[in-house]
Amino acid sequence: MFTLIELPYANDALAPVISAQTLQFHHGKHLQGYVDNLNKLIADTPFEDMWLEEIVRQSTGGMFNNAGQILNHNLYFIQFGPAATVAKAPTGALAEQIVKQWGTLDAFKVEFESKGVTLFGSGWVWLSAQEDGTLVITQESGASNPVTEGLKPLLTFDVWEHAYYLDYQNRRAAHLSALWQIVDWKVIEERYM
Ligand code: MN
Repeated sequence: MFTLIELPYANDALAPVISAQTLQFHHGKHLQGYVDNLNKLIADTPFEDMWLEEIVRQSTGGMFNNAGQILNHNLYFIQFGPAATVAKAPTGALAEQIVKQWGTLDAFKVEFESKGVTLFGSGWVWLSAQEDGTLVITQESGASNPVTEGLKPLLTFDVWEHAYYLDYQNRRAAHLSALWQIVDWKVIEERYM
């Protein structure tokens, strides 16, 4: 049985970047729906006793879509915090690797946002790490997650319209560039270790 993750902040704590209303629907309705669907699909199957990542790696069809969306949203929601308290930039090995590959953090952000803007339809843009620590930005369609490609997911922007339509309507680019204000790089760094 999977349960809905609790947000580590209040529903209104990310406003105005993400409104309380968007969080109520995105976390309380969309993610809850994926959790309920997955629980129905795994009941009385060998998937019932698996970790979420294992289900994502091994399933297909509706089970993959719901499990993938739970994994994606758990990583997504936990990486954010109130703009006043989050770490605004990485430090240590992650900061060094970003500079090595992109020159500056701003140059990395430009490419990441652009990959989010140009992803056609619903999906996710990801920063992930390869086994040797090299970073890679990927576009994932639908419910896909970089763990299916053997990568370690670090940071993600949800570009499904449900993530931004109440607050930004069709302005996906404006939504993505605002998200940097609430990304907690401390969380991303911990995932990179
Ligand atoms: Mn979503």
